[in-house]
Amino acid sequence: MRLLLIALTAVFAVWLPRAPVEGRDRDTPPPPSGAGLAVLPIDPGRFGNLQYARTPLPPRAIALTFDDGPDPVWNGQVLDILDERGIKATFFFVGQHVQLHPERVREVVRRGHNVASHSWSHPTRLRRWSRAAQISEVRRSYGALEAALADAPPADRARLEPMFRFPGLNEGAFLSGWLNQRGVMVLSAEGGTDDWRGYSAARITRVSLNVMERNQGGVLILHETRPQMIRALPDLLDQLSARGFTFVQITAGMEGRARALAADDPVLTLR
Ligand SMILES: [Zn+2]
Repeated sequence: MRLLLIALTAVFAVWLPRAPVEGRDRDTPPPPSGAGLAVLPIDPGRFGNLQYARTPLPPRAIALTFDDGPDPVWNGQVLDILDERGIKATFFFVGQHVQLHPERVREVVRRGHNVASHSWSHPTRLRRWSRAAQISEVRRSYGALEAALADAPPADRARLEPMFRFPGLNEGAFLSGWLNQRGVMVLSAEGGTDDWRGYSAARITRVSLNVMERNQGGVLILHETRPQMIRALPDLLDQLSARGFTFVQITAGMEGRARALAADDPVLTLR
């Protein structure tokens, strides 16, 4: 663990220590695969070689991301599966779901995961909307996340990340530029499994392993709203660990975070 952290510090220009998270974390045994925390020097940036530059993670390091929640049924199961393995992830939540289940957001950050925006209503043709409507999709989603975390401890609130993932990865140039001006990272991925199509657990595992091997790790997209993915997840994570992959948690660098807070019309207002 210590060696990994030193290595990560050497790889990345910025190291942002996080306050220990209360509760379950202290009781969680050390992760077998050596989970770590990578901080990306990201401002402004678009990452994920499905569309952009490769996310700057060390070779065979994987950053898990879960989209489309919080799901009241499956989110807790994902957290339990991650806890059992000492893995921290990033959740890209849909604002409408956050408004319905704010308690899930609080639980996710309490257990050491990061949360970010996946828009308010998940419009996959967002780039065709008016500019005002596109901005509203971002602002409403962050408003819901901030409302959910308004009374959370500061260390938990800090887990709200200035990161955005376009619904369906369907980027639009206007909104991407608007986000970058405000220090919000646009994150695609090195791989996904299209598990939202309803593929079987075996197929989700096979495709995820293949895409992570092909890319030597990177950001992996999974969807917490799919029962097949939940069934696949324990074995998938164990197989990745057995192949020597490590799991890292991505977070915005200090520069991006500062810009997200300091803009004239900031996207984030929590401090
Ligand atoms: Zn999505």
